[in-house]
Amino acid sequence: MGYLRPVLRISGMAVMLVSTYELGHQPVHIASPAAALRDAGIETVCVDLSVEELDIDSVKTIDAIAFSVPMHTAMRLAVGAARKVKELRPDLPIAFYGLYADVGSELNHGSVVDAIFCGEYEAPMVDWALGSTEPGPVMVSLGKSEFLVPDRRGLPPLETYARLEHQGEARIAAAVEASHGCRHRCKHCPIPAVYDGRLRVVGHDVVLGDIAQVVALGAQHVTFTDADFLNAPAYSLGLLREAHASYPELTFDVTVKVEHILEHRDLWPEMARLGVLFTVSAFETVDDRTLEILAKGHTVSDMSEAVDVMNDAGIHLRPTWLPFVPWTTPQDIASIVRFLDAHDLAPSVDPVQMAIKLLVPEGSLLLSQPEMARHLRHFDAAGLTWVWEFASPETELLQKELDQIAAAASDCKEDTHTTLSAMRRVISSSARVERELVLLCRAHGRPGVGHRLHCHWQEAQVST
Ligand code: SF4
Repeated sequence: MGYLRPVLRISGMAVMLVSTYELGHQPVHIASPAAALRDAGIETVCVDLSVEELDIDSVKTIDAIAFSVPMHTAMRLAVGAARKVKELRPDLPIAFYGLYADVGSELNHGSVVDAIFCGEYEAPMVDWALGSTEPGPVMVSLGKSEFLVPDRRGLPPLETYARLEHQGEARIAAAVEASHGCRHRCKHCPIPAVYDGRLRVVGHDVVLGDIAQVVALGAQHVTFTDADFLNAPAYSLGLLREAHASYPELTFDVTVKVEHILEHRDLWPEMARLGVLFTVSAFETVDDRTLEILAKGHTVSDMSEAVDVMNDAGIHLRPTWLPFVPWTTPQDIASIVRFLDAHDLAPSVDPVQMAIKLLVPEGSLLLSQPEMARHLRHFDAAGLTWVWEFASPETELLQKELDQIAAAASDCKEDTHTTLSAMRRVISSSARVERELVLLCRAHGRPGVGHRLHCHWQEAQVST
């Protein structure tokens, strides 16, 4: 076979689980498989490279290593770390597991990794570690699984990770997960590419057991990392009620799509009473046509209504944005700024959000969309994403400028207000240039001189 399998030693075996990035949280995607592996009698070493170094001496003594890759950034970091491990221990079986494990698998499989686990990975990983099955190149497991309470032993303490600033207090935070997958199929999202509209709940006792565990470890705030907390509203609300009854001081945040904010509007006042401080919601853009292409299931007017629902409930709303897709214009970005101002949302936006470009990983549902296909160029193996081109050079320039402003602000830890002010100036100037070019092209009545004018002439024709 073209891959390495762990070999069970008479003295027992040891597997190292490595996280590279989990949004500043103690990694639940290490704790969950650690519980399954330890339950099977396998010694498990946990490492979080976002806050600690890889101990080379430990790598020399283990029998297998598995990298958690729940998101794109984690995957990119894991590929680099796995290559180093391969140089050090060419004989060591290496696995990738999680949502992004299959991204770039044709390039990584064999040269970097020996096994890839997507979906519900715990049970297949135990089989792999025990050497009791021979996994194919990519194991996608979507069946219903029995989970154990995540085992957080061996992970850095919660105090090591990002805290939640709330009313002048820096609350110790922990992440728990109540479900995997999502019932929806938004075109740009990596989750449907694996789960295809399926939802897998972790289980009432397991989640409450994990909450009890993190509270004992010092957590004052819990982030539910579910893709959408209201995919299973009765189950999720039940968890919140019981957690609040046991720990009345504990606070929470959740992620919920606009459609669910409105569909379950009657739940929010109770969720506020149960300790939900804020909700993250993927607004993405203020262009209805783009929302339709992405199959988001909401409109711009729904977004405004969602803001009102959350304001009425007294829950802080943190919208996330996907401002730059291939057909974005500077006017679209200026419209996002106007929306933020009209709804008093600017203080809730991380400036880096304003520079985000659409990511198109391998297997993305967007690849088959005609609106997207014409902008695609080639797959970037190092970046693990498809390269695409903007329709408008002005938009490309604007995205780069916003990206530079965000990077510089992050380097010098600039306050959000100052960064957003700098971004506003660039956006406003870019939108003005675009407006003037469109007027110029219309005045000529035909494609103007050079590519920029031609591009705007085309857009002017479409919009008239
Ligand atoms: S609702 Fe959210 S998690 Fe679900 S498919 Fe859409 S973007 Fe992805």
